[in-house]
Amino acid sequence: MQDASFSTPAAPLLGIDLGTTNSLIAVWQQGEARLIANALGEVLTPSVVSVDDDGSILVGQAARARLATHPERTVAAFKRFMGSDKQYVLGEHRFSPEELSALVLGALKQDAEAYLGCPVSEAVISVPAYFSDEQRKRTVFAAELAGLKVQRLINEPTAAAMAYGLHEQKCERTLVFDLGGGTFDVTVLEYALPLIEVHASTGDNYLGGEDFTEALLQACMRDWGLKPETMQPQALASLSDAVEQFKRELGESGATLRWSGDGEPREWPVDELKLQSIWAPLLARVRAPIEQALRDARLSPRELDSLVLVGGATRMPQVQQLVAKLFGRLPYRHLDPDTIVALGAASQAACKARDAAIDELILTDVCPYTLGIASSRGGDVTGAFSPIIERNTIIPTSKVQRFYSTHAEQKEVRIAVYQGERPWVRDNILVDSFDVPLRPTGEIQSLDVRFSYDINGLLEVDVTFIESGQKHSHSIDRSPTGLDADARQASEQRLAKLKIHPRDTLPNRTLLARLERAWMQSLGDERELISSWLDAFNQVLAGQQATDINRERQALSRALDDLRY
Ligand code: AMP
Repeated sequence: MQDASFSTPAAPLLGIDLGTTNSLIAVWQQGEARLIANALGEVLTPSVVSVDDDGSILVGQAARARLATHPERTVAAFKRFMGSDKQYVLGEHRFSPEELSALVLGALKQDAEAYLGCPVSEAVISVPAYFSDEQRKRTVFAAELAGLKVQRLINEPTAAAMAYGLHEQKCERTLVFDLGGGTFDVTVLEYALPLIEVHASTGDNYLGGEDFTEALLQACMRDWGLKPETMQPQALASLSDAVEQFKRELGESGATLRWSGDGEPREWPVDELKLQSIWAPLLARVRAPIEQALRDARLSPRELDSLVLVGGATRMPQVQQLVAKLFGRLPYRHLDPDTIVALGAASQAACKARDAAIDELILTDVCPYTLGIASSRGGDVTGAFSPIIERNTIIPTSKVQRFYSTHAEQKEVRIAVYQGERPWVRDNILVDSFDVPLRPTGEIQSLDVRFSYDINGLLEVDVTFIESGQKHSHSIDRSPTGLDADARQASEQRLAKLKIHPRDTLPNRTLLARLERAWMQSLGDERELISSWLDAFNQVLAGQQATDINRERQALSRALDDLRY
């Protein structure tokens, strides 16, 4: 590594970790990746969006507090539905998951601009390694809606590996175990600095910390005889909130959940055995991707030199115990699992910007899923899947396979590109499909289909007819499926019209939201106390004296922290 002194370019590239639960921004400055704090001075911005009572949009901590008090106007964990048709109705607004992600990215962009003192327009954004092509396209689209050009999508575990490699500078084989809020990724890589080589990436796009919270919530409601359909939305949201907090404080041996959000004080004791039975099905799902990643990397657990844990859910002692049991050793835990991905994304941004301090680092990544086309392999006309690029091939890569037309008078060939690991295309994910005209010759013709996959996950398909020499090139459409230019523009216009809550008053708005949530979740004397704080803060706000407001806000924030609200 070279000397880190260099001048910051006018508009630095941001590194963004757009998480299911929390999002973070980092920037490369003076030879190192630095986290950027939001308007509240915190580096974690909850990926939560709420429509305030006046119709303005709130993102982050204030929105998170409103999950309990205004569940019908607030949404979290929408990254889980990125790439689906799901729509969220919040008050008078309707949003797609990528529009909500755009609102989070917009808030992060504002925070970065406030910190850097200049506009920013480009970013490296991390995505789960196992995100599909469509989910990646939607992430790029969300960034565009927020006014950010994506310079590169980096896989989350790879970003973590990069931050870790820069920090530790070791030569070793490592497994990155990344359990976030909504996704699980396993990556096996090797450091031979300056080279970081990813050997295999696998995962489960539908397993994360939120599932552990949901399993606890279901078990607790079962034991209390509560049914979601008969509960008030606010009470249900308040219970979810309490269970999330409870999960974080549980420890290994269990604890007792106390909740009175529907007016009736209740207790739910949970011991180690009970926790094990509630979470056993989820913990069991962790095993298969680990085995597959090691198999694809042709390594046994013994041949690994180290384990790195990434993602907030790896803070759970039960997850740490399972990892220790599976690998027979303790994982490294000295880098913060919440922030490491954003730091790695900023390091990758520095690489892109050819920063002198990091220029030497070379990262090779893999395509985490198999890509191929539909064919009538073995005479199966219902759509067999013929792989062209196998999963965990190092990228960039270019691979070719020979196919044949099915009958002599055929006038065109349909190339349907799929990703997945199942033998029939109906069980895999359609990426794109197009027709290539064919000059009938009265004979079966042979064609070579070449897939070229670049470092950003962009796929090009070239078809060459061997007998005629005729060639056809096709870049896979980068716009999200079902979104034509008009739909994109409509999305842009709708978001541009939204009133975003002003950043400078966000700390006050956040405290009000927290006070309201605390009021709702408390009873008796504590509720009276919180009521008096709420009135006091409203009075200070009405006085419009900035120093008084700041002093009171800080005091009340600490008081709420002490009461664990
Ligand atoms: P991430 O997407 O990496 O921010 O991960 C967020 C997930 O980590 C959420 O599901 C949280 O519930 C979970 N999480 C964060 N901190 C803790 C903790 N101390 N104990 C258990 N789970 C946690």
